[in-house]
Amino acid sequence: MIGQIHNILNKDSFTSSEIVELLESEGENRTLLFKKAAEIKEKYVGNIVYYRGLIEFSNICGKNCEYCGIRASNINVDRYNLTDDEILGAVSFALENRYASVVLQAGELANEVFIDRIEKLLLKIKELTNNEIGITLSLGEQTEETYKRWMIAGAHRYLLRIESSNSEIYKKIHPDNPNHNFETRLNCLKILKKLGYQVGTGVMIGLPFQTYSDMANDLLFMREFDIDMCGMGPYIEHSDTPLYRFKNMLEPKEKRFDLALKMIAILRILMKDINIAAATALQAIDPMGREKAIKVGANIIMPNITPGKYRNNYKLYENKPCTDEDAEDCSSCLEARIALTGNEIGYGEWGDSKHYKRNK
Ligand code: SAM
Ligand code: SF4
Repeated sequence: MIGQIHNILNKDSFTSSEIVELLESEGENRTLLFKKAAEIKEKYVGNIVYYRGLIEFSNICGKNCEYCGIRASNINVDRYNLTDDEILGAVSFALENRYASVVLQAGELANEVFIDRIEKLLLKIKELTNNEIGITLSLGEQTEETYKRWMIAGAHRYLLRIESSNSEIYKKIHPDNPNHNFETRLNCLKILKKLGYQVGTGVMIGLPFQTYSDMANDLLFMREFDIDMCGMGPYIEHSDTPLYRFKNMLEPKEKRFDLALKMIAILRILMKDINIAAATALQAIDPMGREKAIKVGANIIMPNITPGKYRNNYKLYENKPCTDEDAEDCSSCLEARIALTGNEIGYGEWGDSKHYKRNK
């Protein structure tokens, strides 16, 4: 009923069942939800999209998340590890194209060689760019000491998805061993926050076993945790992963896409001034997926600036887009697409989370 959706949308805070109602909205109700989210975005963070040049610098991973195509046990993956020079080349590309921020993402490793390499790399990036580039890390679970070292070396944002805030689902989509533990993940998020990082988390949407009420609780978890940034997108199956055996339980991809858009819109209403990324996985389902997300509340895009020859080997899921293009091809098409959404690109600006700044 339209009246009912109006009533819900006029509130600042939603109950879990109200969120479920919004997730189920269709037709005119769905339009109302998206319209409200767009208004809030414009009012609180403006119609500006910030770029984060995404450098997927290695697909070598020590973990075995059951959904992920680059999990350690997948023997069909050609493993790669960019050299420091290749990474710095991508950083220079970002700087020259006024992206202002980069995200360093890779499989999860926690040995001293890796930790030390990242620390030195951060220092080199800061030096190379004269401290002009903002740096987000997405390198999984680490100790407090490691997070601290990386922060001192120059990182100031960290993305670590909770994947699902329901610990039972978390257990079902990860191997049953101490290396894949819900409490550890949660604790890492708490440490990151305590250290003063801008903390981003997120979930996969449309996982097997996940109900609408789980998704609603995911959003309430993000608000309760008071995150600064969010990156969430549809779960997309990969045939070389254990979770693939549940593919018959999944909603059609278009439905998962639609749910992801609604999750973004609802989160924008719940957390007005955080940064919300338009995840690449959206684009794997709909070629204009990220642009659609921008229209309903997202304000961050992460153009892939990993050198093209490595892209095919960072296949988290099937159909991952832009895998055979180089950074420049992607950025020119992206600029035109964003202009079509009525948003500007915040070239040369870090675009830090307003929410984080306000809390400070
Ligand atoms: N290894 C780091 C970590 O796990 O935080 C960073 C890289 S990991 C590939 C980044 C994110 O990819 C994960 O948090 C997960 O949500 C997402 N991902 C992995 N497999 C996926 C899939 N099949 N569909 C959608 N997203 C997926
Ligand atoms: Fe490794 Fe991250 Fe994939 Fe898990 S999600 S297997 S930690 S790359």
